[in-house]
Amino acid sequence: METNYRPTKAIVDLSAIDYNIKKLIERIDGARMMAVVKADAYGHGVLEISRQALKSGASILAVATPDEALHLRKNDIEAELLVMGAAPVRFIKEAIKHDINLTAYSMEWLESAAEELKKETVPLKVHLKFDTGMRRIGLQPEEADAAFDFVVQQVFRVEGMYTHFATADEADNPLFLKQVETVNAIKKKWQGGPLMFHVSNSAAAILHPELAFDAVRTGISIYGIAPSAYVKREMPFDLKQAMSLETEIIHVKKVKKGETLSYGATYTCSEDEWIGTLPIGYADGLIRGLQGQEVLVRGRRMPIVGRICMDQCMIRLPEKFPTGENVQLLGSQKDAVILIEEWAEKLDTIPYEIPCILTKRVPRQYIGI
Ligand SMILES: *Cc1c(COP(=O)(O)O)cnc(C)c1O
Repeated sequence: METNYRPTKAIVDLSAIDYNIKKLIERIDGARMMAVVKADAYGHGVLEISRQALKSGASILAVATPDEALHLRKNDIEAELLVMGAAPVRFIKEAIKHDINLTAYSMEWLESAAEELKKETVPLKVHLKFDTGMRRIGLQPEEADAAFDFVVQQVFRVEGMYTHFATADEADNPLFLKQVETVNAIKKKWQGGPLMFHVSNSAAAILHPELAFDAVRTGISIYGIAPSAYVKREMPFDLKQAMSLETEIIHVKKVKKGETLSYGATYTCSEDEWIGTLPIGYADGLIRGLQGQEVLVRGRRMPIVGRICMDQCMIRLPEKFPTGENVQLLGSQKDAVILIEEWAEKLDTIPYEIPCILTKRVPRQYIGI
């Protein structure tokens, strides 16, 4: 049975994901890739992206929450799996049962986890996370000795050690170098046996392959989006944006000079204008701030005019177009392209936010490979 009768959909090109991952793996020269698939793979659809990422050469998956990890396990994804965010210690039982690595991010967490582990017979696999400058979660550098002593005495199996950069996507930020120095010093103190040492997000993996160590945690770049304008300029290779967003014109009419359209009547036609209606609105993630953003029809740019409604919006056409005409809101059409970065700039935000705000009402369709 057809479950989506609306032409609005997000198309995810798995061959772009494959291309980006292979380029990144080449770049990090022997280190392992953790594909970061948190937040439904940055809005791209976690199961399809995870399966593709593993096929393309990633060997570990990283998510933000315990529930995201369980979702992967319940869908038969058996790869090595790390929860990077805080997991409550009552999740430990499930983590052991499903072989999920958790992040040990404070002495307090380690102590309550150790208490919880008294009920278990199998050790809990953890990655020790150090806060070297992000100030979000992580053991403080001065807690390293105490944490190392503690974990070797208890029923933890330390699989990895990591930190997260605050400014890896900028040019020459002194905090970045300081974080590298701090984490290296911590690593040298560790005597507890082999572990996976990983520090790099996409920006660091791309700009500083010498810091790839045992693994990198790449998110945004596998989706073909540069972490920042600076990284994009410095990139030694191109990324391919995997996501496009498309719909069709569902209604066309001529609106007379001086007449207004949409809520608030904020747009007045300065001449007789052909206006097309698109079945996509802010409940799909085409948020109201995108009023004025251009879309592609027949490879030409046309603006969204008037206020964006919950389920629909209007665009100004240069001439009469038939209904059913394909409209590309993100992605390419003929020689023209609208990148996620363009929306981010229009909305005065970072590209990361864009695929995440496309709501569940927009079905994801997969092409390529
Ligand atoms: C989200 C996240 C990443 C991925 O960062 P990108 O910039 O998307 O590559 C890596 N590490 C941690 C701890 C994260 O939270």
